[in-house]
Amino acid sequence: MTTPFKKIVIIGGGAGGLELATSLGRKLGRHKRADITLVDRNHSHLWKPLLHEVATGSLDEGVDALSYLAHARNHAFQFQLGSMIDIDREHKQVLLDEIRDEQGALLVPARRLDYDILVMALGSTSNDFGTPGVKEHCIFLENPRQAQRFHNEMLNLFLKFSAQGDLEGKVNIAIVGGGATGVELSAELHNAVQQLHSYGFKGLDNQALNVTLVEAGERILPALPPRISAAAHQELTKLGVRVLAKTMVTSADAGGLHTKDGEYIQAELMVWAAGIKAPDFMKALAGLETNHINQLVVEPTLQTTRDPHIFAIGDCASCAMPAGGVVPPRAQAAHQMASRAHGNILALLRGHTLKPYTYKDHGSLVSLSRFSTIGSLMGNLMRGSMMIEGRIARAVYISLYRMHQIALHGYIKTGLIMLVGRINRVIRPHLKLH
Ligand SMILES: Cc1cc2nc3c(=O)[nH]c(=O)nc-3n(C[C@H](O)[C@H](O)[C@H](O)COP(=O)(O)OP(=O)(O)OC[C@H]3O[C@@H](n4cnc5c(N)ncnc54)[C@H](O)[C@@H]3O)c2cc1C
Repeated sequence: MTTPFKKIVIIGGGAGGLELATSLGRKLGRHKRADITLVDRNHSHLWKPLLHEVATGSLDEGVDALSYLAHARNHAFQFQLGSMIDIDREHKQVLLDEIRDEQGALLVPARRLDYDILVMALGSTSNDFGTPGVKEHCIFLENPRQAQRFHNEMLNLFLKFSAQGDLEGKVNIAIVGGGATGVELSAELHNAVQQLHSYGFKGLDNQALNVTLVEAGERILPALPPRISAAAHQELTKLGVRVLAKTMVTSADAGGLHTKDGEYIQAELMVWAAGIKAPDFMKALAGLETNHINQLVVEPTLQTTRDPHIFAIGDCASCAMPAGGVVPPRAQAAHQMASRAHGNILALLRGHTLKPYTYKDHGSLVSLSRFSTIGSLMGNLMRGSMMIEGRIARAVYISLYRMHQIALHGYIKTGLIMLVGRINRVIRPHLKLH
């Protein structure tokens, strides 16, 4: 192999970055053909689409999170804990911020890491569109810490309600954003309440839970075909969720949300899940081209437009599609981009021509907890999309996570993880209660 490059640094060990580090580790790191380093600001990885389940307690992060250090050792790459703050393109170095402990004592000073090829895979954050009060009063479901915060506040709220025994009162929770996250969280909350009732939370049942889902667009699930969003709307309404489409939130305060129509939606707990942007520090990052939501603009080969040695994948990349529009910020896109970036990095090392990435939409599924799963499957055979529901939809929904696990662990270990999951379902409570 002709290899002018030696150091490959990947920033962000999420849906895309961790899969890429794993596959490059297996292919190059194991045979000492390149040094692969993954940088993440957290010690462990949890697949982001599981966060709403952590928030309601149907999933225990402690059981499902994966340690970067252990995974790196098993797959022949290095892991560095740290937060990337800048790139020095002239010296081909990334700058990592200093690390301090919870008391503020310095643990690791700021560092520089050399790279020959850099892959930006640091995902996205919530976009509050500058709406006043949102940062202060709403929870964003961006990482396990925030999901855990929601979980704790939710349990405290339910405990308080249950202890006061006020059968007339309600627990009010508002969720802004009618995309998959908001829809799935609304249904998960109803599941959580039913489970908690069975664990002895007195007076707490679906009648006592008042979930309002607010969406500024014409309908919830705007990215999915109208019949699927109509079906989801119907299912949520059946559960007792108040779905407000065409409703713009103009501000939030400690007691609830103000809407453009003058309504005040009272809520003790508020979640903001409306829109994404790449982190703000990327707006003017090392002279690279970015768009209005700070994503790095990439060529079809996933190389950034102004630097062929810097790739971007997943939510932080803006990749145009030949038919128009850009690749959506979704787990299946991050998974596919990781695989294309793997091929293109090998091509770059070997002096071969890089191939363009093509987004393949395999459809979208939305899980309404254990109540239902609905969505559309896309495929050549169907010539468009086909609506699916129920058990088949649930199986396909789970398969997206299984694909991620297979990319990380291979088939045998994923099979064992599934087995442990089944055993845990028998021996552990169905809901995390602390
Ligand atoms: C609650 C929720 C539910 C979702 N459900 C679905 C779904 O059902 N289907 C679907 O297709 N998509 C879903 N998504 C979207 C999906 O999770 C993302 O599109 C996908 O995770 C993007 O992958 P990524 O690799 O780009 O980023 P991420 O998976 O977000 O990973 C980014 C990583 O970068 C790290 N990082 C960030 N900044 C820095 C820094 N400065 N330095 C070092 N490390 C950094 C983070 O710690 C993280 O590990 C959901 C998202 C959320 C929040």
